[in-house]
Amino acid sequence: MKHVNIILPLPLEGQFTYSVPDKLENRAIPGTRALVPLGKSKKYIGIITGDVIPSVIEKPIEYKNIIAVLDDQPIILPQQFRLWTWIADYYMAPLGDVMKAALPTGLKQLEAYKPRVELFVMLQYAFQDESKLHRLLDSLARAPKQLAIVETFIDMAFSESSNTELSNVLLGQDVLLNRARSNPAALKALVQKGVLRIEEHEVGRLNTSLPPRMENIKPLNRAQSEAHENIVQQMLSHAVTLLHGVTSSGKTEIYIHLISEALDRDEQVLYLLPEIALTVQMMQRLRDIFGSRLGIYHSKYSDAERVEIWQKQLSPEPYDVILGARSAVFLPFKRLGLVIIDEEHETSFKQQNPAPRYHARSAAIILAQIYHAKTLLGTATPAIETYNNAREGKYGLVTLTKRYKDIKLPEIEIVDTKDLRRRKMMSGFFSPRLISAIRTALSENKQVILFQNRRGFAPMIECPICGWVPKCPNCDVSLTHHKSTDIITCHYCGYTTRLPEKCPNCESNEIRGRGYGTEKVEDAVSELFPEARIARMDLDTTRSRNAYEKLISDFATGRTNLLIGTQMISKGLDFDNVSVVGILDADSIMNYPDFRAHELAFAMMSQVSGRAGRKGKQGLVILQTKSPKLPLIRQLMEADYSSFFADQLSERRKFHYPPFYRLIYIYLKHRNENTVNSAALELGSRLREILGSRVLGPDKPTVARIKTLFIRKIVLKLENGIDYTHVRTYLRQVNMALLADKHYSSIQIYFDVDPV
Ligand code: ADP
Ligand code: ZN
Ligand code: ZN
Repeated sequence: MKHVNIILPLPLEGQFTYSVPDKLENRAIPGTRALVPLGKSKKYIGIITGDVIPSVIEKPIEYKNIIAVLDDQPIILPQQFRLWTWIADYYMAPLGDVMKAALPTGLKQLEAYKPRVELFVMLQYAFQDESKLHRLLDSLARAPKQLAIVETFIDMAFSESSNTELSNVLLGQDVLLNRARSNPAALKALVQKGVLRIEEHEVGRLNTSLPPRMENIKPLNRAQSEAHENIVQQMLSHAVTLLHGVTSSGKTEIYIHLISEALDRDEQVLYLLPEIALTVQMMQRLRDIFGSRLGIYHSKYSDAERVEIWQKQLSPEPYDVILGARSAVFLPFKRLGLVIIDEEHETSFKQQNPAPRYHARSAAIILAQIYHAKTLLGTATPAIETYNNAREGKYGLVTLTKRYKDIKLPEIEIVDTKDLRRRKMMSGFFSPRLISAIRTALSENKQVILFQNRRGFAPMIECPICGWVPKCPNCDVSLTHHKSTDIITCHYCGYTTRLPEKCPNCESNEIRGRGYGTEKVEDAVSELFPEARIARMDLDTTRSRNAYEKLISDFATGRTNLLIGTQMISKGLDFDNVSVVGILDADSIMNYPDFRAHELAFAMMSQVSGRAGRKGKQGLVILQTKSPKLPLIRQLMEADYSSFFADQLSERRKFHYPPFYRLIYIYLKHRNENTVNSAALELGSRLREILGSRVLGPDKPTVARIKTLFIRKIVLKLENGIDYTHVRTYLRQVNMALLADKHYSSIQIYFDVDPV
């Protein structure tokens, strides 16, 4: 009997061995799904990865039989399996977790996917005969609703195709009844008379009928053509190339040219964006050109649609271009030739929770390698790691320094808020300079964007008398106030409660918000500028499916003229009429306690600034900060990426961070604080035995309790050149040894490799 290895969608290391009943032997091939029993009564769908070599099998009877093979053809290709294995190894995540992340639910749970069926109407064979058909029509003279159905059927059948036989024609029931202005009862009567019959047929959910219009591709201007040529050159000698081009230089137009050239070579293209919201805008732009050769894939699509896209990619006519967010790296490709990673610097390419905590940029580069495809990274503000690779020649590098049509980069004016506050010249968030700039813009019918990063400053509630702050009972954080509903919530676990009317501590009734989020900015703006038509864009106002698009289109059409937002507004949006961008508090972005804080701040503020001024006129950015002397501020003002990069790189070297060191965070979680504490100390000292001073901590992370679990964190800094495979094996061993100790067996431990 044959034995196979199977991955099950469970957070367990390794694969499982099952035996294959003889009658399934031919079907149980790698990449197909098998239904298998596990434990006493559970059943799972797993993926067969390959045969087990007979000599490895010691006691064949001890393995359970697979129950069924669910596919005729593999649903994951060998290339996908290689990617899964790489992710599981590199990110130290169970293979089962990778499988869970990779497959849409409909492919991993029984009955989760239902094909969409519609009802179709057909004419019974007997009425193929013309004279019989005439007699039928005559006989229906007194049943006008039925007559209408039959007449419409004949009309539609002939207009659809004149040379097929009538009895072969299938017409959608709803369309037929609509056109005939008839009703289901009349249709039923015709079925009972043996004139028509109704059949159920599967129909796809995917729209496949939009013809490509390659003539919509825009010709490149001179700078763009040169960059394009350069990219093609660099790709000859590099697997990965970085296109470093300022905002609005036409990077996307260049991608479009590269995509169409790949299609000419009969290659497929994967185009990754960091966020779903961005794919929505890019979709239109690409669809105008590639029509239904373009498929969109991300987690906001219904699971059934994702299953169909997956199946389409396995069919003889797959989408040639896939535009998607993170999870699109898992789709099967047959002839992938080009991978484009747009906004490559974005940290949202990294999956935070749950495992596998993979970086889609790295995963996509590996995927491209597996297919011998080329990768293009594009951004205006490269990640330090990426730029370092390019500078060292590991990646090709192409730069584009001019905006399209020579529109100037905006002028950035720095406002020293510390000084202004001392002189009592600030009106809340606003400096006099920013107020007058907004006034002018509004009076000239221009638009304004105000950027308020909420990351550092959640709107908290505080009692001004005793200092009481409401805390989440499950997590070590204070609750966030939502003024519109007057509730306070925890952003980690979702705990929600009403804002008390009196302070529960001292009974004062002066509880009020402190810090400032976008909601408070909105209040202040509507007081200062009652004439403004204000919109606010943040996580709270964009929860519903279409809210994001509505906010964007209202602003684009001028229905609103002052947009307040978090970093959501910083990306990819093209507005023509924005003359002023205000960055209210640059310090809250720069002072985030993380080694990447300045990198994020530079990227974010460059992006936001890029929203100012488009066609025709240079835009104005007013940047308010308490620390105008920081080098970062000058680098931003002068759009001086290279000196910014040089500064960051030397900091990174000095403090042992990437790209000189690889970081691994190890998290331990447990309900009991003492248990997690001693487990973390134990793990730390065991790791130090071999890794020495590369091990830091354990420490309490900034949020040290989430969803009732206490957390400890150990940091590893591994120098370049260390044998990482070796370290991984060692980490796994130490981890297992700790969990084998009965005191610690209920501790949750996980790794975050290359955290962002
Ligand atoms: P980036 O991706 O670098 O931010 P885009 O490709 O979005 O820049 O270009 C910015 C704007 O300029 C877009 O509206 C784009 O259509 C337009 N544009 C850029 N290059 C061209 C071109 N060669 N012909 C016509 N329009 C262009
Ligand atoms: Zn109080
Ligand atoms: Zn909570």
